[in-house]
Amino acid sequence: MNEKLDRRNFIGTLSIAGTGLAIGIPQVTFGRITDAKPALLGGPKAHPTNFPAWPIVKKPDENALLEALRSKKWGRLNGKAVANFEDAYKNMSGAKHCLGVSSGTSALYTAMGALDIGPGDEVIIPVYTFVATYNVVVLNYGLPRFVDTDIESFQIDANQIEKAITPQTKVIMPVHIGGSPADLDTILGLGNKHNIPIVEDACQAPMAEWQGKKVGTLGLTGAISFQSSKNLTSGEGGALLTNDEKFAESCYNFHNQGRHTSDPNDLYAPTRGTNLRLTEFQGSLLLAQMERFPQQVNHRWENAAYLTSLLKEIPGIHPAKLYEGVTKSAYHLYMFRYDKREFQDMDRNKFLKALVAEGIPCSGGYGTLNKEKYVTDLAKNKHYLKVYGEKAMNDWMEQNHCPQNDQLCEEAVWFSQTMLLGTRQDMEQIAQAIHKIRKYSGDLKKA
Ligand SMILES: *Cc1c(COP(=O)(O)O)cnc(C)c1O
Repeated sequence: MNEKLDRRNFIGTLSIAGTGLAIGIPQVTFGRITDAKPALLGGPKAHPTNFPAWPIVKKPDENALLEALRSKKWGRLNGKAVANFEDAYKNMSGAKHCLGVSSGTSALYTAMGALDIGPGDEVIIPVYTFVATYNVVVLNYGLPRFVDTDIESFQIDANQIEKAITPQTKVIMPVHIGGSPADLDTILGLGNKHNIPIVEDACQAPMAEWQGKKVGTLGLTGAISFQSSKNLTSGEGGALLTNDEKFAESCYNFHNQGRHTSDPNDLYAPTRGTNLRLTEFQGSLLLAQMERFPQQVNHRWENAAYLTSLLKEIPGIHPAKLYEGVTKSAYHLYMFRYDKREFQDMDRNKFLKALVAEGIPCSGGYGTLNKEKYVTDLAKNKHYLKVYGEKAMNDWMEQNHCPQNDQLCEEAVWFSQTMLLGTRQDMEQIAQAIHKIRKYSGDLKKA
């Protein structure tokens, strides 16, 4: 499909419809929508149907689960499904090693454990992320250093990472937020320059690519999540990818009580471990779903590109920018900024409400993580005071400012990955809804 041509047709249709000269089915549809009032003001919904539901369940999934059940081998130490899944994921991602674990958080936690992150160590993380990125650092009594957000891309502002590096920095942990790659050239360059390992939080980004390579395989390691909302899911679950054999071994041992399967008495480094094993049920379900996963990845990618071509024509709507190195986004989220100045100063909450009324589910996304009480209370945590001292924790609080992120958190709008599994018409209706809302923003503001 030629997206440019398509977009012109769509915009053209809109303006023809606006003159009242529209003929033919699509024009009439567009005409009705553009002339219609927003649903919140009593007009018809721009998107009257449902977006695809999530998760999707097909016969092969049922068969795979039943097979695992009947095998009576339910744990990875007994069965083969987890190992088969790891092999399949290795092939799909190009990683030399893949380790299934119990969640995305477990994957990151295993990486921290294998690197022996502990009290006194600092880990650099973006502030615009899910709290798990932060939690795995704090669970090890490491000090998380927040880096502000590039509001154009929603990703970590890679140009601000270097000033957060100290002699204590043991890991740089970028997040590919929304499933779109962070600026990996800059980040990998810093890792090399300062000899600091890069742990990619690719929990939202399975199959996303940077210059043709799957994210999660470019740093020392990358974590993927299979939690319910994620693009590939087994309810809970996760995986670690790496090309480093020694590291892969350390991760296996950490997630398996510090022990290697071949000989339970054979203890390897690291000196700590726990049980974070994935079950055979999860492994078999993931394996079955992987048959259709690459096709879904392309479906989201194509719909997202189409949606971007439509939305960027609307004043005040700024879809998240992809960096030049991005050859594929997983689009776990479709994110854009809403500039209320182009909508007669109607606040974002009203915009979100109006969109929901049009039949388009959406949210304002993350809050300001660095300002949450859960996070700021760390400065008073008795263990942190013991390890780092009061002055260091006060300094930590004082450095804890991310003004770009503050602004982004006020402007962000998210659509979920499942919406991108819809049709091109679904994408057009999203754009129509926003056009309509913008046209009537003065009335909506008062309503
Ligand atoms: C989902 C997610 C995680 C954690 O994954 P779980 O499987 O829920 O533990 C970590 N980081 C990011 C950015 C995530 O979106």
